[in-house]
This record gives sequence, C-alpha cells and structure tokens, in this order.
Amino acid sequence: MNRDEMLKQLSQLEKDIKQINESYDQLKNMVVALIEENVTLNLEIENMQMFINEPKKEEAKVPKKSTVLQSKDNLAMLYAEGFHICPTDLFGKHRGGEGCIFCLNLLSDKK
Ligand SMILES: [Zn+2]
Repeated sequence: MNRDEMLKQLSQLEKDIKQINESYDQLKNMVVALIEENVTLNLEIENMQMFINEPKKEEAKVPKKSTVLQSKDNLAMLYAEGFHICPTDLFGKHRGGEGCIFCLNLLSDKK
C-alpha cells in the first residue's frame, strides 16, 4: 500500500467517523424527544385517571387516597429521573441535570 492510498483511506475514515457522529447525534436527539413525549403522555394519562377516579358528590366521600398517593410517588420518581413535573412549558422535558425550583415547590406542596 503506497502513502497516497493510505492518506486517502485515512481521509475516508475521517469522513465516515464524522458521518457516524452526525447520525449518532440525530438519533440521540430523537430518543430524547421520544422519552420526553412518553413522559408527558404518561403524566397526562395519570391526570386523566385521577380525574376519572375522583369520587362524585353522590358517592361515598372517602377519597381514593391510594390513587392520589401513587400519583405523587410517580411525580417524585419522574423528577428523580431528571424530568420537569412543573406545570410550565418545560413540563415533561428532561432537566439535563439542572434542578428546578418550580418542580421542587410542587413536590414539597404535595407532601
Ligand atoms: Zn420544572
């Protein structure tokens, strides 16, 4: 193998690596977006279930505490997993390792 050929191969490899990096970044962004969407949908389902399970006035006035408590646990768990649970534009988005005073406020209110 002559030097020219080796340099060509090296150059091609560099291009391939850049292409792989770009594909990786695109895929990573898609996965993050899907996870965020999934979290948002789960939270919406949970809110709807809480709404559906809310006791009507004619029914027994004992609130279904287990459902409510479970929901609070889920919110705390989602926050611990790094997602916003605060009712802002960031709801369901990943916090990227940052803390959020609105989320923490929500969690301390719910205790
Ligand atoms: Zn937040």
